[in-house]
Amino acid sequence: MAKLAGGYGTGELRLTPHQALIIPNVSDKKLGDLTEEPILKEFVYNPSPVQKGLVSCVGNDYCNLAVIETKSRAVETAKIVEEKLGTDLKPITMHWSGCPAGCGNHLVADVGLIGKKTKIKGKVIEAVDVFVGGRSGPNPSPAIKLLEDVPCDVLPEVLSGILPYHSREKMHRSKIRVIKNSTSRTEKAAEGKKEIVPQTTSGSSEKMNQEVVSV
Ligand code: SF4
Repeated sequence: MAKLAGGYGTGELRLTPHQALIIPNVSDKKLGDLTEEPILKEFVYNPSPVQKGLVSCVGNDYCNLAVIETKSRAVETAKIVEEKLGTDLKPITMHWSGCPAGCGNHLVADVGLIGKKTKIKGKVIEAVDVFVGGRSGPNPSPAIKLLEDVPCDVLPEVLSGILPYHSREKMHRSKIRVIKNSTSRTEKAAEGKKEIVPQTTSGSSEKMNQEVVSV
């Protein structure tokens, strides 16, 4: 990449918080040749909507704290989801963290995934909790937990079922509605009108999750 930056640009290479590389200052005349470079077949310059918004922490390849493998799973999951949904898929951000430290910034993505272990039929397997509706930028907002203990092996199937019905706008609208509902119930409970006070954090109650799904 440094060679390409020197040969086609001005030697400058930029890294973005979304794990993208930018070679700035490439003239229009050189752009065609640059896009034919072999390394850009692997690190594509025009990624698909999901690949473009894909971020992953290093996972258990390089991190002792990791509970699951993240990088390969992230790429594989994105590919399968794209194969299943094809052109129906709108651009989304999908961030993976391999443990609660959250280096993949899973709470500021349209879909955030945090690795964990879970037990199914006595067998310990790799799984994730699924968050939706997070974003950074001018109006930042943390994602809320939608699903728990989803086995990684079935995750592409699960996301393929969710994503067509949760556009970026819907995810954010759903979350605002859930938070508003929670706030109003909390206020009512404080006034002695109602006893139920659902949680709004990642330890969210089953009731809140049902509300998110039903929107
Ligand atoms: S999120 Fe956890 S597993 Fe991933 S890099 Fe950070 S500490 Fe390691």
